[in-house]
Amino acid sequence: MTHKGKTCLIFLVAILSSLSAAKDFRVSVISDMHVDMKYDPQVSADLYCTRGEKRDQVPAPYGRHGCDSPYVLFASAVMKMKEAEPSPDLILVPGDFVTHSLIYKSGAINKRADKEFNETRYQEIMDTVENVAQSIAREFPGSPIVFTQGNGDYLYNYQVPDQTRKARHYSALYYYWIANIPSNKKAATAENFFSMREHGGYVQEIRKDLVVISFNSNYYTVHNRVENDPGIPKSLFRWLESQLLLAQSKHQKVILLYHIPHGTYTAPVSRPSFWVEEYKAEMYRLLQRYNDTVSMSFTGHLHHFNIQSADQARLQAEFNYNSLVVMRAVSPIRVNNPGFSVFTYTSHGDERLMHPAYYDEYTFLLSHTVGTTEDPQRFWVHLYNSRQDLGLEDLSPAGIGRFIASLVQDPKRLVRYTMYKIGEPFSEDKAKWVAQVCGRLFPTDIGRCVLGLFTRFLPRYGVEEIDDGVR
Ligand SMILES: [Zn+2]
Repeated sequence: MTHKGKTCLIFLVAILSSLSAAKDFRVSVISDMHVDMKYDPQVSADLYCTRGEKRDQVPAPYGRHGCDSPYVLFASAVMKMKEAEPSPDLILVPGDFVTHSLIYKSGAINKRADKEFNETRYQEIMDTVENVAQSIAREFPGSPIVFTQGNGDYLYNYQVPDQTRKARHYSALYYYWIANIPSNKKAATAENFFSMREHGGYVQEIRKDLVVISFNSNYYTVHNRVENDPGIPKSLFRWLESQLLLAQSKHQKVILLYHIPHGTYTAPVSRPSFWVEEYKAEMYRLLQRYNDTVSMSFTGHLHHFNIQSADQARLQAEFNYNSLVVMRAVSPIRVNNPGFSVFTYTSHGDERLMHPAYYDEYTFLLSHTVGTTEDPQRFWVHLYNSRQDLGLEDLSPAGIGRFIASLVQDPKRLVRYTMYKIGEPFSEDKAKWVAQVCGRLFPTDIGRCVLGLFTRFLPRYGVEEIDDGVR
């Protein structure tokens, strides 16, 4: 080829790739920050680094494993998110904004705390929520930001506000996350105001062909007392279905956003379901019926990254109708490294969006920051790309289903996936050792063994005390 021809070809390739890049759609997701405004870098993790007398000698200014996030850690995550993708097409925030140390455990509602609604504490909680919303909005003035609430964003963990308190609580959230954020102006509608006040959910149109439905999964957990607001669980499903039907009739794709995943957490560790069985069955029915409309579900809550395709307990094709991704937490309380993710959707030339193709995860090397005064941004790294580093072909239900099946066959890949789950950069030596030990000792339960060994490498304090359902 002549020099001129070569230049031409390079030029053509550049144009083509810029065209396809322009079609990509990027979604940044940040979850479970659990910001603690009273974080004390010298208080030890067995007091959750907050309001304690017991002081560690080495200060941990940017956070400590076993504790919730100091504000500076959360702010640093937002800055890195901006560096990774300065102007995402969409930002998703799946809930749990507030530190565990401010909210009453779910059992406490039956005791004295129930009668004494602690107004000061409640205000502290709501101030934190507002602060989190504003901190994200400030850095991304051009991006729509869709939120959902976690089980820890109210005075009582896992409880929805009762009928006397919900209008005030949900309207505050409506203003913090929708009306007060200029890039969310389009979503500040009367309809959203009313649905928020009723059950804390709403709908935001992102493009002509894409809407996000944010719904409040706190109504469906096994921990919520039905008496709090008995009519909602059923009517919320009717609302959800009517929104799905509307999107379907407009040929729109839907992203579902909720805090607590409905599925069973099986790979690589099996855990009980967080949802009441009856509601879980209803959710499966909806997802199956609208599987062409729902592009994907995003949730938080587990604090470890997790990918699922519909009902993982039954991996057969007929159950592979929904991709669900659980975000890793910013809060390092469950011995994970803090992190966030950026998802890329690609389309095939026509207007309709395809399933998301891949994602990139970023992680904060927290243990390296203990005792340091250096700029926290130095400790953020790109952890992996799902396609290149994990071999996940795409994020369609079938792609995820095949990937999960491959984890069971391939211990090495499972080890790599597990390291990424908790935000640990992959290391060949460590992985080899862990795969060998677990393969020999627990050949039938290798996933649980791998996760156990990795979390043991990180300092672990009395985290079992925390009632987050993430046991
Ligand atoms: Zn959480």
